[in-house]
Amino acid sequence: MAYLTSAPRGTKDILPEETPKWQYLEKTLLETAELFGFREMRIPTFEHTELFSRSVGDTTDVVQKEMYTFTDKGDRSVTLRPEGTAGVARAALEHGLLGDALPLKISYDITCFRYEKPGSGRYREFHQFGVELYGSPSPAADSEVLALAYECFQVLGIQNVALEINSLGCPECRKRYTQALLDYFNQYRGSLCSTCLERLDRNPLRVLDCKSPEDKRIAAGAPSILEYLCDGCKAHFQEVQDRLTAAEIPFRVEPTIVRGLDYYTRTVFEMVHTAPDGERLVCGGGGRYGGLIEELGGNPTEGIGFAMGLERVLSIMTAEGCDFPPEQTCDVYIASMGAAAGVKAFQLANLLRSEGFFAQSDLMGRSVKAQMKYANKIGAKYVIVLGDTELEKGEAQLKSMRNGGTSPIKLDASFSDTVYETIMENAYADLEEAAAELGLPPQDHRH
Ligand code: ATP
Ligand code: MG
Repeated sequence: MAYLTSAPRGTKDILPEETPKWQYLEKTLLETAELFGFREMRIPTFEHTELFSRSVGDTTDVVQKEMYTFTDKGDRSVTLRPEGTAGVARAALEHGLLGDALPLKISYDITCFRYEKPGSGRYREFHQFGVELYGSPSPAADSEVLALAYECFQVLGIQNVALEINSLGCPECRKRYTQALLDYFNQYRGSLCSTCLERLDRNPLRVLDCKSPEDKRIAAGAPSILEYLCDGCKAHFQEVQDRLTAAEIPFRVEPTIVRGLDYYTRTVFEMVHTAPDGERLVCGGGGRYGGLIEELGGNPTEGIGFAMGLERVLSIMTAEGCDFPPEQTCDVYIASMGAAAGVKAFQLANLLRSEGFFAQSDLMGRSVKAQMKYANKIGAKYVIVLGDTELEKGEAQLKSMRNGGTSPIKLDASFSDTVYETIMENAYADLEEAAAELGLPPQDHRH
């Protein structure tokens, strides 16, 4: 029965002590995208299998090996989304969003599912934040999306992430480049892995994306796509770079990037983190896609987007010691002795909560001593103890857990105002103290 108490392989629970980090990360990314005009879309967790096999590309690892596909009770083949681009494109088409004002800018924050060998930074269920921009073939759109990717890392305080960009050209350039790649790799047929031999026949570009060390070594000597770009693609790529330079967005041209999905044309890019020991971690990627919307039955529409893996982004933030906002703890814990005081504590805690305070009272019928221990454990900033005497007098003591100071508090309509004033006064006193430590003059000496 061990499986009842262990999560399926490749999945991970996010426990309450970690969720504040996730909430901060996701909120920050969505809000940063909003600054650029991207609005969030929420798409289904599963789609018709064909949506992915057509759009992601049936020569990719994602479609060939990694999809969670099953037949539902209605005999339909459905697949848990391995990525977000296909679902967003399907929804944009279905709801006619591409017929409205263009460019259309969409962000998403989703879980994805891939049947992979779990390892460091690799799960079977993971989180992606991503964006899609539809309707603009211009390099202006590429640089807008790259600028957003860069800004995401800036606002999170991540230092060592670089944008690595490349161009895969248009189908014309690709045709000539594919031939050149074939000519090159054909010399190494004896050394390439078996998957790559297949790739060579179906989509030679995929060989450049192989993770086996020997194939990587061979791929390093392959001709560069940049030498096969037509004039239009060359000019496009140059303008993307000129715009990034103008906006002081750092980037590196990396001609070996092909990305793992089949739908890309022209610009592709990766977000790469380099640790102090030199280890590289790709935490996100994206690019421009020309044929996707058409493939799904829409009018030809250009799109460009990226997705980043949030597990990897979080591990980078932790490794770099990035700041996270302090965790919210209980403002006021109201301890009580006896049944009547218990009801009063509940009533007052509820009043505080309706005013936006974090407040709790006893739910366990414990002794006052045990309640205080609990208040301490949950990091309560203030406590109030209610017993018969307090109820009779209609007054209690609001005690600061930080410095032990107490202030009288009336158990009437003024209750939450007094809590507010006391918290503010103490916060102000703390500020004054901090200012004094910094050698700043006290408030009443300033103008
Ligand atoms: P990789 O080369 O690491 O397999 P990929 O090219 O398959 O990545 P994409 O499909 O471009 O990845 O997805 C974008 C991002 O999503 C990746 O950079 C990574 O951060 C994250 N990602 C992809 N697969 C996984 C996974 N199995 N577990 C956790 N994160 C993942
Ligand atoms: Mg992968």
